[in-house]
Amino acid sequence: MAVEKFKTDFGPPKPMLPPVVEKNYGKWKYHEVVRCGVVKRVSETGDVVYVARFGSPRLLSIYTVRDLCDLADKYADGYIRWTSRNNIEYILTDEKKVDGLVEEMKKLGFPLGGTRDTTKGVYALSNIIHTQGWIHCHTPATDASGIVKAVMDELYEYFTEMKLPAICRISLACCGNMCGAVHASDLSMVGIHRKPPKILDDVVKRTCELPSTAAGCPTGAITIDVKKKTVRIDEAKCMACGNCYTICPGLPIFWPEDDGVAILVGGKVSDARHPPSLSKVVIPWIPNNPPRWPEVVNAVKKIFLAWAENARKHERMIEWIERIGWEKFFELADLDFTHHLIDDFRVGAYQYATYRSSTQFRW
Ligand code: SF4
Ligand code: SF4
Repeated sequence: MAVEKFKTDFGPPKPMLPPVVEKNYGKWKYHEVVRCGVVKRVSETGDVVYVARFGSPRLLSIYTVRDLCDLADKYADGYIRWTSRNNIEYILTDEKKVDGLVEEMKKLGFPLGGTRDTTKGVYALSNIIHTQGWIHCHTPATDASGIVKAVMDELYEYFTEMKLPAICRISLACCGNMCGAVHASDLSMVGIHRKPPKILDDVVKRTCELPSTAAGCPTGAITIDVKKKTVRIDEAKCMACGNCYTICPGLPIFWPEDDGVAILVGGKVSDARHPPSLSKVVIPWIPNNPPRWPEVVNAVKKIFLAWAENARKHERMIEWIERIGWEKFFELADLDFTHHLIDDFRVGAYQYATYRSSTQFRW
């Protein structure tokens, strides 16, 4: 079947591909990991490329981006790409240029790493995928880039060396809307609001469309006070998701003392060996403590190391947990079990909403 018949939304559209990649589209024969961060790809046509991967903090100044583009001009025919986990990748056609690029990236502060060699069963940690945080979005319960930087500083050696037993995807979403794939990652941090929004009656009255504000609440907690041209929130029904604040700026949901971070484990999208699974909460709340979030960093590191030191080769977080049992997991990760961790999610028809009944479930 002709390769052109397949369409994918992975990677850039064809006109943006480096010429060597476009020329060999669908013809790549095999690849090998030359060293952590450098993958050699060989085509049926005889062409060879070297893909060099570097970690990035995701938020970059325009000056840094220009520096990175200068390196693309110098080493990779003017092409550069960002992976979905915020790694920077250059595709080089000349092996002799790899060391020069790595050296210049090192000077700019970008480490080489994040690859895996599955044939040898050695894995490096890829970068942490994360959301906008306090710098950009309007509903975060915690920051994104700040925590991720603090966590990756602690796990740096696992990015630059392939010494993990399997893939471990770490993610962060700064609120429960979770733009960051935290439901399907091995280890996740999620910003949690714990109190309903404030109601600024005057702002609601002046700026919000009341019917759409009420309709935007997924639990039906919002009613309209027609006489006062504002809304009321039934706190017993509110799950502090912040969706109403997206619709109406008169309902801000920021509580510095009550917002914080939950830790989840055991999600995965891949159906290799074990079906896709949703993450489960293992720490319900940790307070925000910027700028370095030591409590969150410590919790993530504890769980990560418990898995890294005890899992078998190729065994992802949920596979390891299910082999040893959740009780043993809590013991090895040194975590407390509280009533907040009991899964009692029941909202009418949504109770069937699991991966096994979604289109993700293939059989
Ligand atoms: S996870 Fe929530 S707060 Fe963070 S970027 Fe997405 S919608 Fe905004
Ligand atoms: S925070 Fe969420 S659940 Fe609470 S009132 Fe707003 S939309 Fe409804």
